[in-house]
Amino acid sequence: MKRGAGNRQKVIIVGAGPAGLLAAHMLADHADVTIVEKGRDIGRRTCEVMKGKDCIYCNACSVTAGVGGAGGMSDGKLNLNPLIGGDLVDFIGMQRTQELFDMVDDYFVEHGAPGEVPHVPSDGLQQSAAANGIEFIPIKQKHIGSDMLPRVIGSMKADMEKRGVKFLLNTTVESVTAQNDKASGVVIKGKHYPADYVLLAPGRSGSTWLGGQMKKFGVPIKYMPIDVGVRVEVPAVVYEEAVKTNWDPKFRMHTPTYDDLVRTFCTCPYGFVVQDTYESGVGANGHSQRNCRSNNTNFSFLTKIGLTEPLENTNEYGSTIAHQARTIGGGKPLLQRLGDLKKGQRSTWERLKRSYVEPTLRYVTPADISMALPHRVVTDLLEGLDMLDRVVPGVASDATLLYAPEIKFAAVRPETRDHFETAVVDNLFVAGDGAGVTRGIVPAAAMGIACAEGIIARIEK
Ligand SMILES: Cc1cc2nc3c(=O)[nH]c(=O)nc-3n(C[C@H](O)[C@H](O)[C@H](O)COP(=O)(O)OP(=O)(O)OC[C@H]3O[C@@H](n4cnc5c(N)ncnc54)[C@H](O)[C@@H]3O)c2cc1C
Repeated sequence: MKRGAGNRQKVIIVGAGPAGLLAAHMLADHADVTIVEKGRDIGRRTCEVMKGKDCIYCNACSVTAGVGGAGGMSDGKLNLNPLIGGDLVDFIGMQRTQELFDMVDDYFVEHGAPGEVPHVPSDGLQQSAAANGIEFIPIKQKHIGSDMLPRVIGSMKADMEKRGVKFLLNTTVESVTAQNDKASGVVIKGKHYPADYVLLAPGRSGSTWLGGQMKKFGVPIKYMPIDVGVRVEVPAVVYEEAVKTNWDPKFRMHTPTYDDLVRTFCTCPYGFVVQDTYESGVGANGHSQRNCRSNNTNFSFLTKIGLTEPLENTNEYGSTIAHQARTIGGGKPLLQRLGDLKKGQRSTWERLKRSYVEPTLRYVTPADISMALPHRVVTDLLEGLDMLDRVVPGVASDATLLYAPEIKFAAVRPETRDHFETAVVDNLFVAGDGAGVTRGIVPAAAMGIACAEGIIARIEK
């Protein structure tokens, strides 16, 4: 039943990442919406080491919490191809996913993201990739830049606040409550906050927590594969041709020895490598800005790992790798020249100095990454880089830098019905990377919209 403006139904959204924000945007005119976010406001997320510099980049912190979510401090690459960034298409089909992606794009453009991007033909790259057994996926992409994205997110938040959305920041939701298998609210600092609908969008960092809530309610969950690999850094000139066609060119290949899938991900042209922090260790990540360039390009090079029995929990396996890398690196990410890895020798600052690629992240331990990553992963990466070198000459040169580990932990995927309402608890919805369906700003935001549409349909009934 539709209620009057003074008696609107209450929706609590957990997480102010892209999924939570776009859901709130859709719901603002239909319900009394509160977003609870454990992190800080977007303007207050700037890291200490970034203060007071003209051309800033952060080497010492990795903030995944706060308004904007993991995406708030990110590179702001908007990938607009439904086949990139998770499995939304498997749930709602290609056409609907594309429509939702367009809605997300429109909202970002409304708040300052670039409008139309010129199409650059990629036939040459595609041909060269195909001739070398590599799949190149041309995609429509936009780049906002980590220096511009906070403004875009801030503008979205201001718009939603104007339309009545409340933001409860620096506040962690402890648990979700339900009565007679229907969501009834959340608990914060031991106090119950009632709601008619609860949408969980806690991102990858909140995925374990989400899994725990699902187990509590008996919602079946599935462990998804993780990605393990390195952040590769090369002189920008090496990747120049490739990034002319796509800012973040997507290459996928199967390696000869193990027939494993290896892919490039999150390319940061003229970018900076940054430290990432996992529960069990540290790793590498990257970003590039719109108005500040380094001389290098970095990208993530990852191999997919799925497990069956006796250990299905891929995250547990990923954690042991992160832990091992932390032990070897004394708490810092590892850095090795590709040439040293091939020779089976540890990189040292002395050897790194001889290389003409200057690392953009110096808070690292020069090391031997084969001491930290499983043999199978190292083999996949070496073979994959050799394959890629035939399409992007120079990428597998001895001077290429490898930062390890880079791990994309998997979220658990709860069983859901239409609009991502959980299979067991009514009025409880899940969205974004934390629900194991998406991997990226646009898909996460699109899934948030899909949930919001389900809630609106129920409210308007
Ligand atoms: C360094 C970096 C760079 C990236 N670059 C890109 C890029 O260029 N393009 C791209 O498409 N993707 C990028 N990504 C990935 C992208 O940021 C995520 O895919 C996206 O943000 C997922 O959105 P989400 O809303 O599902 O989750 P998140 O963005 O992770 O947001 C979840 C939010 O929920 C909050 N939360 C969690 N648990 C609780 C709780 N119990 N109570 C209250 N709040 C809670 C968290 O603090 C967080 O703010 C990058 C990620 C990182 C880390």
